[in-house]
Amino acid sequence: MSGTPRIVVALCFAASVANRTKPTDRERFYAKTVRVGSGCLIWTGYKTERGYGQFSLYGKNMGAHRAAWILEHGELLTAGQILLHSCDTPSCVEVAHLRVGTHEENMADVRAHGRHNMALGENHYLARFTDAEVERIRSMAKDGLLQRDIAAIMNCSRSYVGLVANGKVRTKPTARPSLYHDKEGQDAKAKARRTRLLEITSVVHPDDQIEGEEWRETPYPGYWASSLGRVRGRSKAILTPILMGDYYVVDCGMKEGTKTRNRKGVHVLVCEAWHGTRPAGKHAAHINGDAFDNRPSNLRWATPLENGNDRVRHGTTMVGSRNPAAKLTDASVREIRRRLAVGGNTIRALAKEYGVHPSAISQLRDNKTWRHVT
Ligand SMILES: [Zn+2]
Repeated sequence: MSGTPRIVVALCFAASVANRTKPTDRERFYAKTVRVGSGCLIWTGYKTERGYGQFSLYGKNMGAHRAAWILEHGELLTAGQILLHSCDTPSCVEVAHLRVGTHEENMADVRAHGRHNMALGENHYLARFTDAEVERIRSMAKDGLLQRDIAAIMNCSRSYVGLVANGKVRTKPTARPSLYHDKEGQDAKAKARRTRLLEITSVVHPDDQIEGEEWRETPYPGYWASSLGRVRGRSKAILTPILMGDYYVVDCGMKEGTKTRNRKGVHVLVCEAWHGTRPAGKHAAHINGDAFDNRPSNLRWATPLENGNDRVRHGTTMVGSRNPAAKLTDASVREIRRRLAVGGNTIRALAKEYGVHPSAISQLRDNKTWRHVT
């Protein structure tokens, strides 16, 4: 009989210790906030690229402002209900600054504040002409110049001149760039791509033969690839490549029996024409790492692994310490491997010392990650 009260006491004690050591969700949440002069409660924890805080509540990752709402109102939000910031501060988690709205309202809000990514007009990375050039095309058309002649002047197709002149494309003005995007970086990239495309297409004109250029037939009837990495279509015209992702592609007509266009990577076509049929499981790899250099001499059939290693060699992937999220460096990886080899260091201890998850240590030990470090 005398044993029972003692057990109860022990349980109460254990419960109170657990309560004291484990913070509540609210404590956890508000520990990561700071009040600023405007009245906003700013999230100091992890934030997304767009500036919204992130918080894990009831085992679910969500926007910190959403978590604030749930903590204060004790009610969950449905997926369609979106919280709008009346203070226009994404990182603010002050419940008084939040109201429930719909996706449509939110988009209107975002647009009104210029927070959206308007890849319109000359801001679009594929835009060929600046707003001024588009204006020039329109005024030439107005002056009665033939679309064919305008196309020749502007070095584009007649049909594109028609679209511009008739207001089918490039009608919306180029919008104010979003504050939430690396506009300058995008512009620089877009400009580089445009210049590169112009470099390629400037020497290219239908029936235009460059001295010393050799042509070989691709597996697609009527399509030929040259020693300079250009592709000629059935009309003998040299095709203007389109940039898709990191590669140039050309349109090889329609896929047989379908309504889909048959887009082929220029590097694949050139490789097929110059280095034989694609061996099973191989990719057309750029030897010097320049994905725009599609000359046969720069291409080879390689396994995805070889191609991946090439990318590592060329620095076109973000591996190892080149990855901005990397906590370790090549040197620290070497050091960890050395210490694991000599023994006496647990994975847990090393993880703690280097501020990474233990799995990061075991994975680098097993050569699953940081493989390029030897
Ligand atoms: Zn606020």
